[in-house]
Amino acid sequence: MRPLTWVVVSRRKPETPLGLVRRARRMNRTLQEAFPHVYCELDFTTPLELSVATILSAQCTDVRVNQVTPALFRRYPDAFSYASADRTELEEMIRSTGFYRNKANSIIGLGQALVDRFDGEVPGTLKELVTLPGFGRKTANVVLGNAFGVPGITVDTHFGRLVRRWDWTQETDPVKVEKVVGELIPRKEWTDLSHRIIFHGRRVCHARTPACGVCLLAKDCPSFGEGQVDPVKAAALVKGSGDRPSPRIGGDHRMSTMDTLKKTFALPGMRAMIAFIIVTIALVVALWPRGTDEPAAPAAPSSPPSGITDQTVAQSEIDAARRDAALNPCPAGAGAAATGPLAGVTVPCMGDGSTIDVGAATAGKPLVINMWAVWCLPCRRELPLFDRLSAASGDKLNVLAVHAREGGDKPYFVLKFLQEVGVHLPVVTDPQGSIAQAVKAPRVFPSTVFIRADGSVAAVLPRVFETYEDLTGAVREQLGVDLGAAS
Ligand code: SF4
Repeated sequence: MRPLTWVVVSRRKPETPLGLVRRARRMNRTLQEAFPHVYCELDFTTPLELSVATILSAQCTDVRVNQVTPALFRRYPDAFSYASADRTELEEMIRSTGFYRNKANSIIGLGQALVDRFDGEVPGTLKELVTLPGFGRKTANVVLGNAFGVPGITVDTHFGRLVRRWDWTQETDPVKVEKVVGELIPRKEWTDLSHRIIFHGRRVCHARTPACGVCLLAKDCPSFGEGQVDPVKAAALVKGSGDRPSPRIGGDHRMSTMDTLKKTFALPGMRAMIAFIIVTIALVVALWPRGTDEPAAPAAPSSPPSGITDQTVAQSEIDAARRDAALNPCPAGAGAAATGPLAGVTVPCMGDGSTIDVGAATAGKPLVINMWAVWCLPCRRELPLFDRLSAASGDKLNVLAVHAREGGDKPYFVLKFLQEVGVHLPVVTDPQGSIAQAVKAPRVFPSTVFIRADGSVAAVLPRVFETYEDLTGAVREQLGVDLGAAS
């Protein structure tokens, strides 16, 4: 921690270290309200894909990277294919992202290093990640925070500029910035804080002319006035970045902006209303989610990452996360004898931490298993469909979500995610990969496994279900269980 001395921040009264912590956390809360659902703006389904996308994003927009990566990830599905890539072909595929020769070097080097030293898998610790070609601390923190759920602070150009404007620090060395901010904000919020600051920097607090007049952080920002303070003119400066944020961002931001206009600047009603309308239009245009034109592709083949390190989360926090997630109990079985490949396979139940024998707990009833991982974006989109299936299944069906092996017996981040999205179906983890091995599920996320009442495997489908009707249709087809019309 900083020594307990008075510090003087520009254009503000002297601020104590404690005052700075309070102000920083207040600003973080304001950003949380403005951007409740933040996420990495690069498209990926595996740690390897995120690693490659992050390398490509240097000096390039995320939008451009997301245009390039679908074909790239299809052509190079794993570290082995990058390691043996034809350089000319790879360079051509990534040319539009700029600096393509250097990036091709990094990506081929990354593939070779992963094959040579990590069995082809991206490691899950900062210490190992920073040894990889193309990886600095920033890239490593992006991958840790977004692919492994390990909190990390990503100090990019927006992040550095904003925290200096806010006088959280005046350091320019990213490592020192990371350290100072890490002492101001609780660790578990680091990844989302990074996203929120970058979101804000791209949309409102621009490098040249920040839109101070409509900024939600105005009352806590010592640099208020550095940009345009007239609300009407400032509203015209708000822009998007071609991303696809949650629709809720626009809604919340509109309300908060109105509040800011009225309360912070005490504008006359009509002027505030005009500014509000302009801000609303600007934000709707800037932040409205852009859907993809293509139907979602199944997740690329992937290897569940290993080495996730959430051991520093205290058991009491895990217990609290478990309570907050309020998952439904795992199946307990009705006494039928377990048969089939899942007989004797034991795994931890996320709901209460107990160990269940999956075969015995689900014997005598058809079973649908959703194999997912918190770092897999299509899985996150699909999971609510299985929650709905579980709620509708009654005594016709068991539905079980099986989280990939990382997370182990300290599933803090998985539980926090489940709480955030509000799904409650029974969830287990598969720390040894024993369920996947027993049913011969490929290492693809998400995958759905259909088990008949006699315990035999009816089908393993490595695909993404886009609609509830799509999912119930597959249940009917594979297991002969009809859950009726969707309600
Ligand atoms: S008040 Fe201005 S300088 Fe401060 S964060 Fe907002 S836009 Fe940036």
